[in-house]
Amino acid sequence: MLTNEQIFAKDKEDYIPVFARYNIVLDHGDGPYVYDTQGKKYIDFLAGIAVNVVGHNYKPLVDAVSRQAAKMIHCSNLYYTEVQVEAAEKLKKLSGMDKVFFGNSGAEANEGAIKLARKYATDIDPEKIQIISAIHSFHGRTIATLTATGQDHYHHGFGPLPAGFDYVPFNDIDALEAKMSDKTCAVMLEAIQGEGGVHVPDEDYLPKVRALCDKYNAVLIFDEVQCGMGRTGTFFGCQQFGVKPDIVTLAKGLAGGVPIGAFMATDKVASAFHAGDHGSTFGGNPLACAAACVVLDALINDNLMDNVKEVGSYLKSKFEAYKEKYPTLIKEVRGRGLILGMELTRPGREIANECLDYGAIINCTAGNVLRFVPPLNITKEHVDELIAVLDKVLPKYA
Ligand SMILES: *Cc1c(COP(=O)(O)O)cnc(C)c1O
Repeated sequence: MLTNEQIFAKDKEDYIPVFARYNIVLDHGDGPYVYDTQGKKYIDFLAGIAVNVVGHNYKPLVDAVSRQAAKMIHCSNLYYTEVQVEAAEKLKKLSGMDKVFFGNSGAEANEGAIKLARKYATDIDPEKIQIISAIHSFHGRTIATLTATGQDHYHHGFGPLPAGFDYVPFNDIDALEAKMSDKTCAVMLEAIQGEGGVHVPDEDYLPKVRALCDKYNAVLIFDEVQCGMGRTGTFFGCQQFGVKPDIVTLAKGLAGGVPIGAFMATDKVASAFHAGDHGSTFGGNPLACAAACVVLDALINDNLMDNVKEVGSYLKSKFEAYKEKYPTLIKEVRGRGLILGMELTRPGREIANECLDYGAIINCTAGNVLRFVPPLNITKEHVDELIAVLDKVLPKYA
């Protein structure tokens, strides 16, 4: 077995250094816990960045993936499989959308959503190409999705970027209205911004965005890759605000850790795509769909979203109490359900790093926001374990 130091050295030598990794080597997981190679246990409030929605080593998921792997891991989309139509049907049931397409990641789901919106809009008017997204958004790392991502540092060095993209401040309806016209193809938003720092819009913002999209016949795309899959307490984050999109994307938690992405659309918009307009070699393959079926069943049958509401509000109340107690360290507590952020008055990485020493995995995003996106089936007792760690770490920085 390699020592940690040997692994760090090999990674440095062999891997393209795009990740600012923490110095632990993970080995296995169980429920809301992960274990490093030395056997040290961590309570996992990052869950692979909102991916392990049913926790680690979830028996029905392990069984379904093992069974499917033994049967057939992959076949081409040139043929039908029963498990793909099952996954599609469950997703339709939970989402209320009409049609689905499966890919492999969040970026790929968003890329497909952008393609579909462009096809739909340019069929109406070849100049209807403008895609508006929000500042501090995150939509992925492909050329089109990083262009849609409203953060300059992700664009730098990757030009020329595709044309037609515009940005507005999130939660500012006047700014959006000022940019829109009949040439607007789509408005693309996260209902709750995740990577940008867990930003929740005002109650009336998304309904007003919906109205503007209707006025200009623009496609409303919600990127629910992070805040979807029940994480807010409703299947989609946009449902928190009573708004229905024309296209919506999912990935991260959809198959509980097996790579997958999906975009869904209304019949009206989906009808713009015809044979040959889009595709994927791996997308919706039997292994990923078998995994997705288990996760979607857990959402349908196990009251997971009720658990999210209950445990999420418990966790948030603990954070609110910290804010009262440490007003010079904690600026704001934000989020819904189990996508919560704690904005600090100082950088957060050191704090996330120190939590590792005490056995908790948390994440820092946007420089100074501690982000909490745990499995959706955690209990209040698990929250108490996290709080016991934060009780030790936060006072040192207050
Ligand atoms: C993570 C994320 C993506 C990108 O997903 P990948 O699977 O990494 O491509 C896109 N949108 C949002 C909102 C995300 O959180």
